[in-house]
Amino acid sequence: MAKRRIAILGSTGSIGTQTLDVIRRHRELFEVEMLSAGSNAELLALQALEFDAGAVVIGDSSKYKELADTLQPKGIKVFTGTDSLCALVAAGNVDIVVGAMVGFSGLRPTLAALEAGKIVALANKETLVAAGQLVTDTMRANKGLILPVDSEHSAIFQCLLAAQGNEVVKIHLTASGGPFRTWPREKIAAATASQALKHPNWEMGAKITIDSATMMNKGLEVIEAHWLFDVDVSNINVLVHPESIVHSMVEFADGAVIAQLGNPDMRQPIAFALAFPNRINVGCKKLDLTEIGRLNFEKPDLEKFPCLALAFEAIKRGGNAPCAMNSANEVAVAAYLKGQIAFYDIARIIERVLNGLDFAASPSLDCIFSTHEESAVRARELL
Ligand code: NDP
Ligand code: MG
Repeated sequence: MAKRRIAILGSTGSIGTQTLDVIRRHRELFEVEMLSAGSNAELLALQALEFDAGAVVIGDSSKYKELADTLQPKGIKVFTGTDSLCALVAAGNVDIVVGAMVGFSGLRPTLAALEAGKIVALANKETLVAAGQLVTDTMRANKGLILPVDSEHSAIFQCLLAAQGNEVVKIHLTASGGPFRTWPREKIAAATASQALKHPNWEMGAKITIDSATMMNKGLEVIEAHWLFDVDVSNINVLVHPESIVHSMVEFADGAVIAQLGNPDMRQPIAFALAFPNRINVGCKKLDLTEIGRLNFEKPDLEKFPCLALAFEAIKRGGNAPCAMNSANEVAVAAYLKGQIAFYDIARIIERVLNGLDFAASPSLDCIFSTHEESAVRARELL
């Protein structure tokens, strides 16, 4: 396999650092061209030096000078701002762009990469939730490719390799159920952010960990699966599976269900997206089913986890509704993390923002940006 040149949007986060771990183990296969972060200039500089990156982009412009002073003498170019990010991911020296930024901020650089016909290894699910139609249209029009990094979607993608052109009847999207799966509703209502941040199976960034506790993460993933695999949401079944061993399943017309299994370790789906269609060893612990013994499955409880129901409603409405939902969720989760609102206020705020939405059935990119902004303003008013 020819060396693949990688750009990482969000290299200092959970997915970003695990992507670099995959690359570190296979320097013969991958080269780092560009790294970017929001404000963690210190780690970004260390990464750029270790991987001899061609360029870095820092979101927080107040960190630009310190970064430039460290990296420019070593021949590493330093930039700040989204325009630089968009130009660098589209450059001729990049083969694969890893979308590991958190939230809506990943949309513009992801679109820029797809417009340039790049392969995008996409973890940043909010991009597809907010603008799924535009993102997938851009991909098709420019012969770009999205390879899923989210573990469930990577699992579905792996299962679909067995489809041989046959239609998918159903997708079974598994969910751990998060830290509050077994808690009664009254106890969940009083849960603090630090309790919500204790995910039973996965170590992830703060925003997605809260999304897992509310199960909005699974709602975002339903929408993500709809766009990635062109499956109607009525054929996407959410299945709570507390062990997180079966990463998702695909059902065919003959009743056969194909599943992908493995220990929870994001390096597996990251490595599959980077090396596709090759499989490489990245040090994941081998699955021992006798050690695990039992695998359990349950229906999700929509009374306890109203965010999941809201996500189904938003994608059924379509248009700019998922964008508004995502925006309200970003504001509400940030406020919950700061201790400003209670757990169920997250769902309440999203519901109100959706109810007051100025609906657009086929939103343009400008409409997506204005929906995002206006929904965030409305959500902040509701805090
Ligand atoms: P983290 O919060 O750990 O990391 C986010 C990354 O984005 C950081 O590198 C951060 O930089 C960077 N960033 C934030 N704002 C900007 C900006 N304006 N410009 C450039 N970079 C920015 O998140 P995760 O890694 O957990 O998640 C990333 C995405 O992947 C999310 O969309 C999440 O839903 C998805 N995902 C994550 C999984 C996981 O296991 N973590 C699993 C499946 C999907 P800084 O460090 O400077 O703040
Ligand atoms: Mg996931």
